[in-house]
Amino acid sequence: MAYINENERYCTKCGTLFETRELEGEGTVQYCPRCKEDHFPVFNTACSMIVVDPKEKKILLIKQYGRDWYALVAGYVNRGEDAENTVRREVMEETGMVAREISFNRSKYFERSNTLMLNWTVYVEDASALKPNWEIDSCSWFTFEEARANIKPGSLAEWFLDSWLDSQK
Ligand SMILES: [Zn+2]
Repeated sequence: MAYINENERYCTKCGTLFETRELEGEGTVQYCPRCKEDHFPVFNTACSMIVVDPKEKKILLIKQYGRDWYALVAGYVNRGEDAENTVRREVMEETGMVAREISFNRSKYFERSNTLMLNWTVYVEDASALKPNWEIDSCSWFTFEEARANIKPGSLAEWFLDSWLDSQK
């Protein structure tokens, strides 16, 4: 659990050169002698979901925030929350559907928002319960190949979706 980041040698708050110190149970960590604080990795964590209706074998894609392209349902992990709960909570909040079964796919760091994105597959209990909330402008169910063709080209969502679809063959 020791944490030394050679690329971050100065305190981001005050600019002081980090020292290192032994922290009980953690090993060696960077320490700012001026702020008197230990330095750990700081980034956001979010989940994106490939929402699947297992009966019809269709994937839900959404449009939101006034943008005219399709994305995956997604949301940030709250402090104190486990990622599995984020997945179930966001699917319920944004679509009104119960996640029957969830499984982790893979992750990717997204530099622009300093976010580690965790991608999941969510098999919903009942697709007819779909009731998009105010965050979603529109949404549609697509066959697997239609979803591949409609997700925003070049997006992280496309990378996750293609990766998952390729693994289903
Ligand atoms: Zn400092």
